[in-house]
Amino acid sequence: MTALRYPPRRSSFYQPEIEVPRPVIGLDIDGTLGRYHEHFIQFAVDWLGIWAPPMEYDGSVSLATFLGISKARYRKVKLAYRQGGLKRSMPIYSGAKDISRVTRKAGAEVVICTTRPFLQLEAVDPDTKEWLKRNGIQYDNLIHGENKYRELAKRYPGRVVGIVEDLPELIAQAETLGLRPIIRAQAYNRGYVSANEGTDRFDSLGVIAEVLLERIRQYELDKGMR
Ligand SMILES: [Mg+2]
Repeated sequence: MTALRYPPRRSSFYQPEIEVPRPVIGLDIDGTLGRYHEHFIQFAVDWLGIWAPPMEYDGSVSLATFLGISKARYRKVKLAYRQGGLKRSMPIYSGAKDISRVTRKAGAEVVICTTRPFLQLEAVDPDTKEWLKRNGIQYDNLIHGENKYRELAKRYPGRVVGIVEDLPELIAQAETLGLRPIIRAQAYNRGYVSANEGTDRFDSLGVIAEVLLERIRQYELDKGMR
């Protein structure tokens, strides 16, 4: 009996007798791989010419309230941040590059999942791709929009072994879809109550990578590859 293997990368077909479709990992960008909140808040403070709130953003209030500005003003700052190409210079978290590389090396397909509105703002797509390239993040595909995890589940049925996400509402979306999210620990998701008992939450991307590698091994066991 021939050992089962993964099909070539980028192949949209696989031969069922000898190949197994690759497991899929979904990675969020803002607040998961990159330091979005700190970067945005610093920009907002500079742009608005206000004093920085002396505390870390903990999610107990909206970012607008945190900054002491109206919703309309907040939208203006966010637009300025996006249109100013600030997405290119957002600092990366340590371990972000490796999480994409080690999981791909283990055979997985990495799909970058972002809620950034690509359709409304032409610059966001190139800025996102530039950021990924500049920071050495490897990926096979990119999904965007508010329903990114719905799209991921639809595109890769039965193949998603894990996603990494920081925002409570999107963690909940992923849980509802059975995508087994791992929470990227941040002050603003500390109070998140998971519907799934046992949704992991770690602040080290290195630890998260280990969990994902274990899930890839389990996927291979389940598919009879090991
Ligand atoms: Mg995020």
